[in-house]
Amino acid sequence: MKKHLQTTLIHAPRNAPQYILTVQPPVFRASTIIFKNTDALINRHWTDDYDYSYGTHGTPTTFTLADNIAHIEGGDYCLLTPSGLSAINLVNSCFLNHGDEVWVADNIYGPNMEHLRNLESRYGVVVKVYNPIDANTFQPTEKTKLIWLEAAGSVTLEFPDLINLVKKAKQTKVLTALDNTWGAGLAFNAFDFSSEHLSVDLTVHALTKYPSGGGDILMGSLVTQNKKLHLQLLRMHAIQGIAISGDDAAQIQRSLASMQLRYTQQSNSASTLLHWFKKQSEFIQVLHPADESSAGHHYWKDVCKDEQSAGLISVIFKPEYSMSDIRQFCDALQLFKLGFSWGGPMSLIMLYDLKNMRTLEHTHLQQGLLVRFCIGLEHPTDLIQDIESALKQLRQKTIPSE
Ligand SMILES: *Cc1c(COP(=O)(O)O)cnc(C)c1O
Repeated sequence: MKKHLQTTLIHAPRNAPQYILTVQPPVFRASTIIFKNTDALINRHWTDDYDYSYGTHGTPTTFTLADNIAHIEGGDYCLLTPSGLSAINLVNSCFLNHGDEVWVADNIYGPNMEHLRNLESRYGVVVKVYNPIDANTFQPTEKTKLIWLEAAGSVTLEFPDLINLVKKAKQTKVLTALDNTWGAGLAFNAFDFSSEHLSVDLTVHALTKYPSGGGDILMGSLVTQNKKLHLQLLRMHAIQGIAISGDDAAQIQRSLASMQLRYTQQSNSASTLLHWFKKQSEFIQVLHPADESSAGHHYWKDVCKDEQSAGLISVIFKPEYSMSDIRQFCDALQLFKLGFSWGGPMSLIMLYDLKNMRTLEHTHLQQGLLVRFCIGLEHPTDLIQDIESALKQLRQKTIPSE
């Protein structure tokens, strides 16, 4: 019997063949995934490598991206989350129970600390802070479940003593989670960074940064080599209803091809700017792992064998510069825009007052206001010129008139 148009609009009478080869994989959008038959429905299992059962669990588009992220970072399993912070949240909510202790580096990504403090006050998780460049300050007890690592750390960019921190965690059977956003799987391999092939247990990565590279898509990932950990996380991922958009996954997948080239370019540009920053008189301190005077420099050299870095440099202005001077400096920049995040094409700055950001005393950090520069893909000469002209305005302002 001939079907009504209302039905054939949904069940089309003709279907072009769906399979061709293209440079980029096709984009699947799905909440519903149609099972071939009841056999396929009944025999599916949530632990299947590619569990095509519902949109939240994944599609060929999201699994393709997940496989590639695992490959880039040197792991075997990858889960995708809607943002980097949601990947962090998944680790914390999966492994931390009432009374458990978690150790965090003092320079940990700020919202992670905020999330943990929230778990502390609501659920009785105990948060301990260590100094990332001094492994002796990490003192696990039998209650310690998890240590968060970040290399290099947020804003002040100290490279941690990864080798000794991870060694100590392994000895005491503490789970090691590395926020791998800065290294992006390119500056070093978190699953084999040596002193006898050491590895972290799992990484989180804000794909929002380098893998996206566009400053326009939010996503996060969790990578591990350990199937048991992966399945624990996968279970939590499923019951929390975490899902990502196929369109977003395809956008990031498309950017992966150029990721290493972009990383290298920004690393080189940052290195050029670092040398220039060091010669300016306005800064009391320039923070970047490749700088010999920066805390953790030799740990960076040991672990990042190609001496690569994300395109981030922080400077601390001499204390005689007031907040209003630094704000004028930031506002005078033309190419560097004021905004959070990094790893995109456009150079960015962010202003920080360290006074409210650290728990421990740090003798290696000078007093003063901090500006973080995120180096984009512009020509470094133009970026230097931009900063030079903003500094000139600052100099004119602060030279006392006679
Ligand atoms: C940006 C960032 C995150 C969070 O990523 P979002 O996708 O913005 O939530 C986590 N860790 C580090 C180190 C980051 O820079």
